[in-house]
Amino acid sequence: MIPKPLYHKAETIKELSANFADIEQRIQLACQRANRNVDSVRLLPVTKTVDEQVMRMAFELGFNYFGENKVQEALEKSDSMVDLPIEWSVIGHLQTNKVKYIARFATEFQALGSLKVAEKLQERLEIENRSMTVLIQVNTSNEDSKYGLHPTEVAQFIEQIKSFDRLQVKGLMTLALLSNNTEKVRECFILLRQLRDGLKENLPAHMCMDELSMGMSGDFEIAIEEGATIVRIGQALFGARTLPDSHYWPEVSDTL
Ligand SMILES: *Cc1c(COP(=O)(O)O)cnc(C)c1O
Repeated sequence: MIPKPLYHKAETIKELSANFADIEQRIQLACQRANRNVDSVRLLPVTKTVDEQVMRMAFELGFNYFGENKVQEALEKSDSMVDLPIEWSVIGHLQTNKVKYIARFATEFQALGSLKVAEKLQERLEIENRSMTVLIQVNTSNEDSKYGLHPTEVAQFIEQIKSFDRLQVKGLMTLALLSNNTEKVRECFILLRQLRDGLKENLPAHMCMDELSMGMSGDFEIAIEEGATIVRIGQALFGARTLPDSHYWPEVSDTL
């Protein structure tokens, strides 16, 4: 069993800078192990529950791209930090009635998992005269409680949304099993990569499927070894959250 890591809360720009440097170094080492170029992995800082003041420090450190799970929180922050050229990536499950909000301010949506949401997003983006990068969320851990499409549903889903010209489909996203069993976690990442590789062979010409958004604070190194191009990291940069993860996605067992 791997002990739960300690996440140091960053309260000053110095502490935050040290956390970023630490994570960037770990990303670099994981890339070396996997024989990958470090530029092939994008660090997406996940800022749910992080104060505006700390986010402004992260911006000062050179980060202008943040991931938020909840639409309401992202919307409030995008309003209050409208003075900064920040790009917002919405990474959490979305109800159809929230789609109109993200169509206004987000540049990326990583959790597309239903035709209804895709239709609504296309419709609202037309109204806003915008377009958006989207990733399709896949349930790779085969837990009923998880959001996302089953791997076998993804090819058909791509067919269904291929005419939605406001959605720039760029790849796949997953949340691995939250488990201490690293081999089981790794299997989720391998599954996502293999699925992406298979889909690439039959893609509509205007789509590319290069992005694999996988890996969080607890498992990003394994994800990079298995091909992640985006790692979504919150707690290891900003400190432990007090809200349980079940607030953001359905609770899963840690004992598998
Ligand atoms: C919160 C969150 C993350 C980051 O998790 P950490 O444990 O803070 O690194 C990644 N992906 C999604 C969808 C999230 O909601």
